[in-house]
Amino acid sequence: MPEIIQAIRGMNDILPPATHLWQHIERILRKVLQSYGYQEIRFPIAEKTELFKRTIGEATDIVNKEMYTFLDRNGDSLTLRPEGTACCVRACLEHSLLHGRGTQRYWYTGPYFRYERPQKGRYRQFHQYGAEIFGLAGPDIDAELILTSAHILEKIGLSPYVTLQLNTLGSPRSRIEYRKALVAYLIKHKNQLDEDSLRRLDTNPLRILDSKNPELAHLIKHAPSIMNYLDHESVTHFEKLQEYLGVMDIKYKLNPQLVRGLDYYTNTVFEWVTQELGAQGTVCAGGRYDGLVEQLGGKPTPALGFAIGLERLILMIRQLNNIVKEPTLHIYFVTDGDTAFKSALKISDYLRKKVSGLKLLLHCGGGSLKNQFKKADKSGAQFALILGEHELKTHTIALKPLREEIPQQSLHQEELAEYFKLKIAGEKKKTAISS
Ligand code: ATP
Ligand code: MG
Repeated sequence: MPEIIQAIRGMNDILPPATHLWQHIERILRKVLQSYGYQEIRFPIAEKTELFKRTIGEATDIVNKEMYTFLDRNGDSLTLRPEGTACCVRACLEHSLLHGRGTQRYWYTGPYFRYERPQKGRYRQFHQYGAEIFGLAGPDIDAELILTSAHILEKIGLSPYVTLQLNTLGSPRSRIEYRKALVAYLIKHKNQLDEDSLRRLDTNPLRILDSKNPELAHLIKHAPSIMNYLDHESVTHFEKLQEYLGVMDIKYKLNPQLVRGLDYYTNTVFEWVTQELGAQGTVCAGGRYDGLVEQLGGKPTPALGFAIGLERLILMIRQLNNIVKEPTLHIYFVTDGDTAFKSALKISDYLRKKVSGLKLLLHCGGGSLKNQFKKADKSGAQFALILGEHELKTHTIALKPLREEIPQQSLHQEELAEYFKLKIAGEKKKTAISS
């Protein structure tokens, strides 16, 4: 027998029943994002390598060692996207979505690829929901963006388990001063730096603050704080943002060491962090990137956004056993003979379209009624629908409860639809009360 081929390390299959949970979370994300005025945008999985080198930064981990880069048959260097913001900006510029159109809000989702060491919460293919806003420079929209992310986490039921960390990187101008102070401090403690940090000392010292090496934690904690180097405008922006967060009662923790793993951020940066997932604690991360559009050839355009890692959300939910179930009613349809089956095809179609939340399996593959009932029972269905000679004559369908002690009844398809709708509405009420 040939050997069974396995998936690539760090790239996971997502199987039922986990896929139900994914769909549930994705429904919430879409709904909340749409309610804030975001529209969906889709872009390819691979881009020219230069796009990421130019935006994420040459001295970042992502560009240095995590990208899936390859030459296509034409000899062009392509990269499987490691993140979405650069792709989103590229697509917006290519299709003239940004300039002269006022504020734009986009969301997107899909797989992302980074060659990292696979472990719990960290994979080589992972999934993100991203949100980006273009055209607004003030702290009001920073607050709204953070509110949106808070709203999503609340809807998913994770609010009690996450905290918001907040920082500002200031304007590029104020960062020059800070960079000098930081380098001076790091040089003083050069003997404590690891290989990566020594390399970054010249290329990109702020990156050192993002190091995951626990041996550097103490050094990083006592590094000079960017707060002391901000220019007036950056300070006002940051204070106003905090004022708005206060009004919306969003709790946060200032973390002056928060710099994010990508180079394009300016001013506001934030992360939603949990204690539930060990070292991979960030479930949502984002901030402002006012220079990026210009860097990619567009007119100067203030912009900001966040990305949510779906795998980490799902891990958290499963760990907390905090699964909010969408009510569904599970039905198994059995038929006696080919004429009945043909009618049942139509009735099933009618019911599925009429009643949302219905999972209706129409028995295929023939067999005796007795055998079909066995399958219905095994499938876990709550009701069986039966169409036989008698029902065909009377234009009814028999409804047989499989789990409850209530009598069987014969109903017209319209009555059935109403019955199922009421049943599902009742389930919804029950889950609302218990959650
Ligand atoms: P981390 O510091 O955990 O490596 P990051 O700063 O590299 O994260 P971003 O590029 O900001 O992450 O991506 C946003 C979110 O995407 C992260 O907060 C996380 O939830 C998720 N994410 C990033 N990399 C991975 C990965 N390799 N596997 C699973 N999820 C990931
Ligand atoms: Mg990372």
